[in-house]
Amino acid sequence: MTLWICETCAVEHADTAEPPERCEICSDDRQWVPPRGQCWTTHDALRGTRQAALTTLEPGLDRLVLTPEIGIGQQTLLVSTDAGLVVWEPPGYADDEVLGTVQDLARPLGGVAAITASHPHLVGAAVTWARELGAPYLVNRADLRWVRRPDAVVETWHDVEQVAPGARLVQTGGHFPGSAVLHLDAHDGAGVLLVGDSIAVKPDRRWVSFMRSYVNDVPLSERLVRQIAGRVGGYDYDRLYGAFGADVTWGARAVVEASAERYVGWLTDALRDPDEVELTW
Ligand SMILES: [Zn+2]
Ligand SMILES: [Zn+2]
Repeated sequence: MTLWICETCAVEHADTAEPPERCEICSDDRQWVPPRGQCWTTHDALRGTRQAALTTLEPGLDRLVLTPEIGIGQQTLLVSTDAGLVVWEPPGYADDEVLGTVQDLARPLGGVAAITASHPHLVGAAVTWARELGAPYLVNRADLRWVRRPDAVVETWHDVEQVAPGARLVQTGGHFPGSAVLHLDAHDGAGVLLVGDSIAVKPDRRWVSFMRSYVNDVPLSERLVRQIAGRVGGYDYDRLYGAFGADVTWGARAVVEASAERYVGWLTDALRDPDEVELTW
């Protein structure tokens, strides 16, 4: 039997003799299947093909980057807490070296407290990571149907979940119904958000965005954008760390609030380009 990993999203699938016919995550309208069709790989085929590098973003928060990237290419964030290490958005890759790097970071904290992610696109090989690191894999119950490898390590949560001291999952919905951010009490007393695809950090760091599909450019409704802004608006935060290496390093709360207003302004025609002219034919 074999654990199959979708080549496009790098989400690990259940242990079966033959690969699944398709990846449900990539067949969904938020993702994509390559023109050549569905392709699969395995942990055995991938072993030794990636290098991991660890960077400290701020005290208690590290980023694990694989080269070359795999699947959607999320970068894994590692949060040090008094109850252990919280792993946010593991890749669809797990060799002894990568897992050993994480274990070395977790050991002085007493181990790994939990594996979790913002939503089903960025879970990679979460079940393998959870099993190897001896931790639960926390999945929002609204997104349970997207778990492609059911396992006893999977535990569900909803609304707000305290993962460890100073680290809580907050359900925002939007991109997925169970989409979430991880809110942290940072070393300097400011709050920090790890956002995944719940709030997207874009090249212009003065703005963030919110989408049903980032790859297919499908927007969210006014109701859902206001829901996301309202949910994170209940927390103090100054910095925001994205899934792909881009971050908002100060004033993040004002950036999110202004971005939600801009987004809703375009959705509702309240904002218009100043050079727009009326086209009557
Ligand atoms: Zn896939
Ligand atoms: Zn996504």
